[in-house]
Amino acid sequence: MRALTWQGKRDVRVETVPDPVIKAPTDVIVRVTSTGVCGSDLHLYEVLGPYLDPGDILGHEPMGIVEEVGSEVTALSAGDRVVVPFNVSCGDCYMCDRGLHSQCETTQVKERGTGASLFGYTKLYGQVPGGQAELLRVPFGNTLPIKVPDGPPDDRFVFLSDVLPTAWQAVEYAGIPPGGTVTVLGLGPIGAMAARIALHRGASLVVGVDLVPERLSRAHADGVKAFDLRRYGKDIGDAIRDLTDGRGTDAVIDAVGMEAHGAPLAKAAQWGVGLLPDAVAE
Ligand SMILES: [Zn+2]
Ligand SMILES: [Zn+2]
Repeated sequence: MRALTWQGKRDVRVETVPDPVIKAPTDVIVRVTSTGVCGSDLHLYEVLGPYLDPGDILGHEPMGIVEEVGSEVTALSAGDRVVVPFNVSCGDCYMCDRGLHSQCETTQVKERGTGASLFGYTKLYGQVPGGQAELLRVPFGNTLPIKVPDGPPDDRFVFLSDVLPTAWQAVEYAGIPPGGTVTVLGLGPIGAMAARIALHRGASLVVGVDLVPERLSRAHADGVKAFDLRRYGKDIGDAIRDLTDGRGTDAVIDAVGMEAHGAPLAKAAQWGVGLLPDAVAE
């Protein structure tokens, strides 16, 4: 099959590699039809290089069609359409039973002190071959893949692999009071989705901050009060306070990401966009 492989710092290539095969009786093989590229993949492109080997297959946001199932897979059969969550979890351990799938004790990489394994995401997370590939071996075929209906196009479902649940969790953790207000710093995929989810869940005002014109206009079209950081700079906090009776929004979601260290937007949090001190992340 063809797959995107890591070869070295700032060096990734589509190569021909062996097809994945069923190893455990609960494995399934998925033929990937759509797969996302994540801001988190930038870590692999740069700083996490020491934890990859040349040839490692990247990617953790795939969906596709089940091609083959192991002998103990009863929940899926060949031809089923599935989304594959980025987080490899067994669905059946102490942590999974409590909904803490990112700490799945079956796939946890204990020797590295990290959480559960992830597809396509370094030795720190299990060195599991990833989904930017024509075929993907998915363990825990009875519980991990999410079956979705045939019909609507892939982009109605593919965000279930990472972007939608990640953004939903951000809104959940932000604890916006009913009918309250929130500022979302960064309107990339996660920030834009978090802003839409906050509106969907009843926030009365969602402020978004970014400095990319296309992101700002998309957020505006979604009903977000979008602020262009290039225009406001250090006054961004005052601009948001002016909108909210001088108080600032009830909650703040930092969706800038760690990739943006040193970027002007990362500074926005330090400039005090929110007024609640412990809601402003460093
Ligand atoms: Zn991702
Ligand atoms: Zn588990």
